[in-house]
Amino acid sequence: MRSEFLPFFKPLIGDAEINEVVETLRSGWLTTGPRTKRFEEEFADFVGAKYAIAVNSATAALHLGLDAVGVRAGDEVLVPTYTFAATAEVVLYFGATPVLVDCAPGEFNLDLEQLESRITPRTKAIIPVDIAGETPDMDVLMDIAARYNLKVVEDAAHSIPAKYKGRWVGTLADLTAFSFYANKNITTGEGGMLTTDNEEYADRARIMSLHGISKDAWKRYSSTGSWYYEILQPGYKYNMTDIAAALGLHQLQRCFEMQQRREAIVEQYDAAFEGMPEVEIPTRSPYSQSAWHLYLLRLNLDTLKIDRNDFLDRLKAANIGFSVHYIPLHMHPYYREKFDYRPDSFPVAALNYRRVITLPLYPAMSDQDVQDVIEAVQTIVTENRA
Ligand SMILES: *Cc1c(COP(=O)(O)O)cnc(C)c1O
Repeated sequence: MRSEFLPFFKPLIGDAEINEVVETLRSGWLTTGPRTKRFEEEFADFVGAKYAIAVNSATAALHLGLDAVGVRAGDEVLVPTYTFAATAEVVLYFGATPVLVDCAPGEFNLDLEQLESRITPRTKAIIPVDIAGETPDMDVLMDIAARYNLKVVEDAAHSIPAKYKGRWVGTLADLTAFSFYANKNITTGEGGMLTTDNEEYADRARIMSLHGISKDAWKRYSSTGSWYYEILQPGYKYNMTDIAAALGLHQLQRCFEMQQRREAIVEQYDAAFEGMPEVEIPTRSPYSQSAWHLYLLRLNLDTLKIDRNDFLDRLKAANIGFSVHYIPLHMHPYYREKFDYRPDSFPVAALNYRRVITLPLYPAMSDQDVQDVIEAVQTIVTENRA
């Protein structure tokens, strides 16, 4: 057993990131400026989107995305129950209603058939989530959206770099929100990006991201800017700092290298767990190339004497960090009480939650770390067969 605790996640920050941050601090320009501009351009190029707006979180990006497509009080927005808090709370910011959708049978991503049955005359938009970095079937989803005249804001917090049918995630939906939170695939500490090919959406999101004041307002303190600005809308304070963008520029550059390491670890996990009847390895869709943000291992509970929580206690005792993605939204007090949900209101999500363990998966893991995780899982399973 490991003598030292293996954290669930550690970011990979190199000298390039550190030096760029130091240079930013010495440059005297700390908040939104030239580095943010460059990060936006390089990110847009990377995913092949026309526009990219850097913000201080994916939550902000989702909020701006819904604002851009015109979500208003009283509207309904379809959201998977199997996701993080941010995906649904942004709907509530507008006084709109998040209408939850279960997972597809046997999967983590949302059920597209159920999605269609939850559409009403008040439905305005859909927020699909790429769980673990794998997109739902976006052709099918966009077709449903087109038929009902709905807008799609993709929660791609897990999906850099990810592809759907050979296309980078970032242009599949009307707008796409990425996260650079500390434990995401690439990080700026806190940060996010909103991408779109629609100029109107991009203009609106950029203006709303900085107090609703006129375009390129950040330049007003530079030699090329103007002191004059106009408030066009009551906006928000969501702009990214150049300190964060300094990190992002280099994280983006090593994105593929980090991804290769993730894929190698996934292969090792799959090879070790595939033959064990007590666990189920993550499924893969034929159309998606996952970013492998998370490794979601499901327990086959009827083959074990212990439940998932006991399993987690034993992992902890073995000095292995872990997480659980996700406690479905409908099982949290706020949603449960407001909408009168029971766990089996969304049975697939509830069952996933009862079975799931998120194993450590990040490029800073050594081969020994990976081996230690595998051995800990194997030992717990062997000692607790039903
Ligand atoms: C992390 C995460 C977010 C929020 O990202 P922030 O950058 O922290 O706002 C939203 N949705 C999902 C699915 C996430 O995992």
